[in-house]
Amino acid sequence: MIRITEYAGRDVAVYGLGRTGLSAALALKAGGARVHAWDDNEEMRARAEAAGIALSDINKRDWQTFAALVLSPGIPYKFPQPHRIVRMAEMTGVPVIGDMELFARAVLALPERGRPKIIGITGTNGKSTTTMLIGHILKEAGRDVRVGGNIGTGVLDLAALHSNAVYVLELSSYQLDLVKSLRCNVSVMLNLSPDHLDRHGGMEGYQAAKMRIFQNQTPQDVAVVGFDDIYTQSIAIGLSASGPQQVTQISSTYTLGKGVSAVDGCLYDNLNGKAQFIGKLEDCPALQGRHNFQNAAAAYAACRALGLDPGVIMAGLKTFPGLAHRMETVGVLGGVRFVNDSKATNAQAAEQALRSFRNIYWIAGGVAKAEGIAPLAPLFPHVTKAYLIGQAEEAFSAALQGKVPAQVCGTLERAVEMAFRDAQSAGDAAPVVLLSPACASFDQFKDYEHRGDVFRNLVKSLTPTPMKASA
Ligand code: ADP
Repeated sequence: MIRITEYAGRDVAVYGLGRTGLSAALALKAGGARVHAWDDNEEMRARAEAAGIALSDINKRDWQTFAALVLSPGIPYKFPQPHRIVRMAEMTGVPVIGDMELFARAVLALPERGRPKIIGITGTNGKSTTTMLIGHILKEAGRDVRVGGNIGTGVLDLAALHSNAVYVLELSSYQLDLVKSLRCNVSVMLNLSPDHLDRHGGMEGYQAAKMRIFQNQTPQDVAVVGFDDIYTQSIAIGLSASGPQQVTQISSTYTLGKGVSAVDGCLYDNLNGKAQFIGKLEDCPALQGRHNFQNAAAAYAACRALGLDPGVIMAGLKTFPGLAHRMETVGVLGGVRFVNDSKATNAQAAEQALRSFRNIYWIAGGVAKAEGIAPLAPLFPHVTKAYLIGQAEEAFSAALQGKVPAQVCGTLERAVEMAFRDAQSAGDAAPVVLLSPACASFDQFKDYEHRGDVFRNLVKSLTPTPMKASA
């Protein structure tokens, strides 16, 4: 745990006791603060109490005594409208911060030479993969690396600060909204497309939150920025022209005059304006598909910025085991491959899986995003048939009409059964039953992980239909 001593002897409100709120409460308490922890949800309160946090209903406290409000990133800060608790903080002049800000200030409080290195990763898609990939490469290279933030372990639950440590942190736009002091030695912005717009008051607000990953960078620091979409392109150009930091552009689409590119899976280091071939990403089983080439290029650039040798990085790319629920093969049965891409909660994410396979029996649906599946139309020829579930099933069925045969299935169970039956009997080469829903999961599942686990278990319970013996 990283103890937060900044508020020793003072009262701090912590609101929202999920994974990060709870770790903030524990870190503040360990550092000597009087913590007033609260969550409107009774189950969360009980969990916090069991973890040793005394509850204090901040709705009933004198807010003039609070030195800060630590807000869970899941709670609306500004949009669609500030949460009641945020309003209370604003009315009483209590600063609102997040767990990442507490971490950033604890780092800043150390003398410069005693500070650990920080690599921050953000973007609309690929954050978790790239975060884990960078963590893996650094670990394989023998570095003292701690991976967390928006993935796995909350930042304040990571091992204590140390000058030789490298913190590899996935940063969501919600977390970035609550951070002022974070200085990343290496900031990675993979890509941007419209997402979570309700929580940021539109694309401009979403982009502004993401841009906070570059704030406080100095000429010693590096910004690794994607060059594959119009939003990150303009960020890369803007930072190169007037940002204080060094900028490394990365691309899986363009061979860059300067930067790191991974076009068609060939990784080139052109950081010094002289292209050097590093390796083929086809040798990296968990990094297939153009989206993963982007992640690999970003991880390569980030690790180079920390001084790792190209050969060492390539070795790490090859041995990366990949993440569950992201284009994860969970079984092959009767010649049919089953791929769990439950993490694809929007069209941009699902696009990657649809691009990576042919003869797809596609399971999609859930709670759709505004764009639905219309942006995926160019990839419909890869889909043999679609199996639709959840709230979006009728809308998706209409969007596919006349383009792809589609079956409204209601549940994932029925979709898996029908997709398997069709895939097995169609006689296609290498058929793939793909769960890549392009939707959030909460109409039928706890979260995307639950959805992926149910899929995995359904696949395990299938038995292939015995082939008829020929007469
Ligand atoms: P995030 O943490 O940003 O949600 P993940 O690494 O968990 O991203 O991947 C989520 C989904 O997005 C997966 O379904 C994956 O196929 C897709 N994806 C991964 N990397 C990228 C990328 N660089 N660009 C677009 N989509 C991606």
